[in-house]
Amino acid sequence: MSRGSPDLCDLSASELGARLAAGEITCAELAESSLRRIEAVEPRLGAFLTRTPELARERAVELDAYLAAGGPRTSASGIPTALKDVLTTRGVRTTCGSRILADYVPPYDATAWARLSGAGAVLVGKTNCDEFAMGSSNEHSAFGPVRNPWDLERVPGGSSGGSAAAVAAGEAVWALGTDTGGSVRQPAALCGIVGLKPTYGRVSRYGLIAFASSLDTVGCFTRSVRDAALLLRAIAGHDARDATSLDAPVEHPGRDLEAGVAGMRIGLVAGALEEGVEPGVREAVRTALDRLAALGAELEEVALPHAEHALSAYYLIAPSEASSNLARYDGVRYGVRAAGEHTDVAEMMARTRGRGFGPEVKRRVILGTYALSAGYYEAYYGQAQRVRTLIIRDYEAAFERVDVLVSPTSPTTAFRLGERLDDPLAMYLSDIFTIPANLAGVPAVSVPCGFADGLPVGLQITGPPLAEARILRAASALEADLGLDLRPPLLASL
Ligand code: GLN
Repeated sequence: MSRGSPDLCDLSASELGARLAAGEITCAELAESSLRRIEAVEPRLGAFLTRTPELARERAVELDAYLAAGGPRTSASGIPTALKDVLTTRGVRTTCGSRILADYVPPYDATAWARLSGAGAVLVGKTNCDEFAMGSSNEHSAFGPVRNPWDLERVPGGSSGGSAAAVAAGEAVWALGTDTGGSVRQPAALCGIVGLKPTYGRVSRYGLIAFASSLDTVGCFTRSVRDAALLLRAIAGHDARDATSLDAPVEHPGRDLEAGVAGMRIGLVAGALEEGVEPGVREAVRTALDRLAALGAELEEVALPHAEHALSAYYLIAPSEASSNLARYDGVRYGVRAAGEHTDVAEMMARTRGRGFGPEVKRRVILGTYALSAGYYEAYYGQAQRVRTLIIRDYEAAFERVDVLVSPTSPTTAFRLGERLDDPLAMYLSDIFTIPANLAGVPAVSVPCGFADGLPVGLQITGPPLAEARILRAASALEADLGLDLRPPLLASL
């Protein structure tokens, strides 16, 4: 590695698993490595809202004893893990990046975390994010921005910016985030790591504090494609506590990682390398496509004719669902209640919401409430749902012709802090390539495919429902072929 010398926390979960199995390292040493890294870089990054060093140490010691006594090791055993702060953790504060939940300590674990923790993962902390996962830069967090480990003056992307930055900088070996319109893939692209959004329903949403329930998914941040497969496998599967969770068998999403792309039909989304995409991003993506072709993939262009309306449909559907989901934050049962005088309960609720929510959340609640109001419902929400159906059909038609679709993950590399804060539309455009997959519920992964001006670029690979193994197979072939050095410059200074 060219920058700094790697520590245990810089290795992949699969390498660490092999070392743990061989008895070369302990879970306690691994946890210390991650905690030391957090101490070293966190003052500059701000990736965590809550750190859990004591819990991590305790859990690691417990795991070492369990493994020493012959307890079975899993691929998650001892792996330092970070969780986006919209996933509930029993006994550990969960804020959603919002003042309104600043002191909320959930009495239950999200299913994804319960499974991972049950498999032996070690929680090192809860990560910063845009308030209620609404944003693309992490700047809408009520608790300050996160910085990109590739350039501290730039955003890590969002809304799961803290999880992405933490994994890129080795504070955690892997992390969970959530992806409603791109919030795993876009920050993964901007931070130079792998970001996987599974098929809608593949991972339980129980304990994922809802933003837009028909779009929300739990996703994986890792530094290798293999780790993404391992992490997904640990959290996937049916859950009776989420009515939209899929009751389909979980085959190992990593089963085809070595299979290569020879003969694979890859469709470049028509128009995806045209206007609005930075030249450096275009170039990195073109080079990656050339590599895939050299590896034997068959490339062609495929149109998603209705995808141009995806952003408009999303910004009606997501705010509509958000306005309903966020109605529960009224200061009555949990979360913050606005202090001061109020003459009745309605005024108390109005004050609580007025003070508890930030400007972006308010914008969405107002938009959504308007879109759902009598007289406008058909024209806005109804129409958006029809567009959504057309986009689902576009994907169905595309996957008759090709095995996977590719495009840039984000039209730009990491932008400067503050650059898009006053221009919501510019911010929304960050997700132009990622939103269609959420509307259709299909799986997609962002894999690092090169650099533009020293900043990482991600390639998005999308597949039909439940084809996680297929998109990871293509991502793995590209990853192996490119062999990129993805250690961010921040680590050189350690
Ligand atoms: N950036 C998009 C939004 O602001 C997507 C967010 C997400 O996926 N959670 O809604």
